[in-house]
Amino acid sequence: MESAGRREAENIMHARMWRPWRFCAKICPIMFKLANKTALVTGAASGIGASIAFTLARAGAHVYLADRDVPAGTAQVDAIGAAGYSAEFIALDVTAEDGCASVAGAIVQRPGQLDVLVNNAGIGHVGTLLQTSGEDLDRLYAVNVRGVFNACSAFLPGMVAAGSGAVVNMASIGGVIGIRDRLAYCTTKFAVVGLTKAMALDHAAQGVRVNCICPGRVETPFVQARLREYPDPAQAYREMSATQALGRMAQPEEIAAAALYLASDEAAFITGSALIIDGGWSAGK
Ligand code: NAD
Repeated sequence: MESAGRREAENIMHARMWRPWRFCAKICPIMFKLANKTALVTGAASGIGASIAFTLARAGAHVYLADRDVPAGTAQVDAIGAAGYSAEFIALDVTAEDGCASVAGAIVQRPGQLDVLVNNAGIGHVGTLLQTSGEDLDRLYAVNVRGVFNACSAFLPGMVAAGSGAVVNMASIGGVIGIRDRLAYCTTKFAVVGLTKAMALDHAAQGVRVNCICPGRVETPFVQARLREYPDPAQAYREMSATQALGRMAQPEEIAAAALYLASDEAAFITGSALIIDGGWSAGK
């Protein structure tokens, strides 16, 4: 009996060893799928937003790419479609409250609610307080904070009514620690982290999760534009890479992977988090 039992155990172990996927499939199904879900990504015509849109579409979602840049946004939709995934472009300036509301109204008319909202649109400004005007601060606030607020105001009621939804806001490492010469940018990104945490608390019981991502420097057109503002862009590029312990900037796909995770059911117990992806920048000196 004892040896039959051992043989049975050995057979099970053998089956697991040689066909581990049969064992794994039971306890660990394929992860990070968004099949039958809809997602909207703001600022999806370029950089991190374009990569997030592609990544969510590849995971099975129907993705609305919302951006004020119509030609670039349409080109991204074409690229996603050419890869065999499902996407549509929506012209949207997130600073317009009524524009966000009418986009939400149009999407809710269609079958399926919005499951995932990624508030990624954002702009930057280089300067200390003495080099930042009130207009500069208002311009950044309008996109980086009010834009997130506008999109959340438009889509949250539908998520609350459905009892589910995932919001992913794009903050920055500049929303967690101060960065020299980024007075306006840090001010707005700290606000995004605060908005994220407050919303997470307010709507957890209604089934809506709200998280944000805090990237370090990511190689995108946004960063290229910032670099051009320096007297010596090549030197600035080297210095920007060196601020991160890993000695390089992130690629947009490395941020998109986190957005997919936070949007997915695998992150069901995560809300109110500010996920730092900064190559070790904020870990210390
Ligand atoms: P990007 O400039 O490459 O892309 C930003 C996109 O947002 C563009 O397509 C632009 O048209 C769109 N956009 C800007 N204002 C808009 C508005 N009012 N309405 C609709 N769309 C608008 O920028 P990126 O580097 O991909 O940055 C994306 C986000 O990530 C931003 O919120 C940024 O603050 C944040 N971030 C970037 C970095 C980085 O190093 N690149 C680091 C941390 C955080």
